[in-house]
Amino acid sequence: MTATHAITILPGDGVGPEVAIAARAALDAIGERFNRRFVYETALIGGAAIDAAGESLPLATIEACRRAEAIFLGAVGGPKWEGGKVRPEQGLLGLRKTLGLFANVRPMRIYDALITQSPLKREYVEGVDFVMFRELTGGSYFGAKQRDAEKASDSCDYSVTEIERITHMAFAAARARRGKVTSVDKANVLETSRLWREVVTRLHAERYSDVKLEHALVDSTAMQLIRNPRGFDVILTENMFGDILSDEASVLGGSIGMAPSASLGAGGPGLYEPVHGSAPDIAGRDICNPIGAILSAALMLRYGLKLETEAATIEAAVQAAIQQGARTADLGGELGCRAMTAWIVENIERAEPTQQTVQMHWA
Ligand code: NAD
Repeated sequence: MTATHAITILPGDGVGPEVAIAARAALDAIGERFNRRFVYETALIGGAAIDAAGESLPLATIEACRRAEAIFLGAVGGPKWEGGKVRPEQGLLGLRKTLGLFANVRPMRIYDALITQSPLKREYVEGVDFVMFRELTGGSYFGAKQRDAEKASDSCDYSVTEIERITHMAFAAARARRGKVTSVDKANVLETSRLWREVVTRLHAERYSDVKLEHALVDSTAMQLIRNPRGFDVILTENMFGDILSDEASVLGGSIGMAPSASLGAGGPGLYEPVHGSAPDIAGRDICNPIGAILSAALMLRYGLKLETEAATIEAAVQAAIQQGARTADLGGELGCRAMTAWIVENIERAEPTQQTVQMHWA
C-alpha cells in the first residue's frame, strides 16, 4: 500500500511560488522512488493573501496548516506591500506563533565544489558544517512595543520554559553530531541573556554533561563566524541574535539561495522554508536558485515525516548536481530555476538510496 502524506504549501510572494514548485517536484520524485504519495493543499500567505483576502494570514490558511502533516513555505514580502496597513511578514510571524514553532533550525555546510563561491578563502571555509538553533517565538520580536513622539521601546522577554525547550533540542542535536554546543548571548549586558546562560548551564550539568558547552557573546560570535566557522558544531541562541547570525552564516556557502530551514514546535506540523526572502529583484524570471527550497523539503522529510533515507536521498542528489557542475546564476552559472530543479530530480531518480549525509538528529 502507498503511504500518503498531507502537505500544505504556502507559495507566498516573489520567487516563493517558483521555489515551491521546485520543492514539490523533488517530493514527487521521492514519492515515485519510495512508493509514497504526497497530497498537496495550497493556501495563501503574505502579500498574495493581502491581495486576495485583505489579511496576511487568513483563517483558511491556518486551518489548512493545522490539517497538514508538514508545511512548506516559499517566501513572503515585496515592495508592492511596503508602507501598507498590513505587512506580509506579519503573516509569517503570526503563523509561527499560532503553531507554536519555537525552534528555527538552520544547517550550514559548504560543498567542496562551491568553495570558490564563498566570500571567504578556502582555508577558512573548507569543511564547515554546523547547525544553528534559533529561538523563534520569544524575545524582542514578540515583546511589548511602545511608541510616542519622543521615544520607542521593544521589550525583550524570556521565560525559563522558553529557554529550556530549545536548549534540549540543541543538546540532543549535538549528541548526534560532533558533541559541541556554543550558546550565544549578551550576558555582559542583558538580563534576559543572564537568565539564558543560567538555564543552559543548569541543563548541561543536569542532563548533557557528555556534550561540550561553551558560552559566547553575540558580538564575538559574529566575528568567529568569519574567522573560524569550522569551530562551530551546534549554535544555540535567542531570536534576534539568531536572525542576524543565521543570515551572516547563510552566505558562507556562496549564496543565500542554497540555505534551508525548519521551524519546529512541541507537536503538530513543522514549517519548512528556504532562508532567503521573496527576492523581488529576480522574481518571475526563472533564474532563482531552488536548492534552498529543495533542501528544506529534505528537512521536512527528516524532521516532519521521519523519512531519513528519503531526506538523505534529496541531499545526495543536490550534492551530485553541484559536483556535476549544475549552477544557477547566483552561483555563476546559466541554469534557470526549472532546469536546476530538473537536474536534481534526475539525480533523485538515478541515485542509490543513501542512509545519511548529514547527522542532525535529536529526540
Ligand atoms: P532576499 O533574500 O529576498 O534577497 C536578498 C538577495 O539575495 C537578492 O539579491 C536576491 O536576488 C538574492 N536571492 C534571494 N533568494 C535567492 C535565490 N533563491 N536565488 C538566487 N538569488 C537569491 O532578501 P531581501 O531582498 O532583504 O528581502 C526581499 C523581501 O523578502 C522583503 O520584502 C523581505 O521582507 C522579504 N523576506 C522574507 C523572508 C521570508 O519569507 N522568510 C525572509 C527574508 C526576507
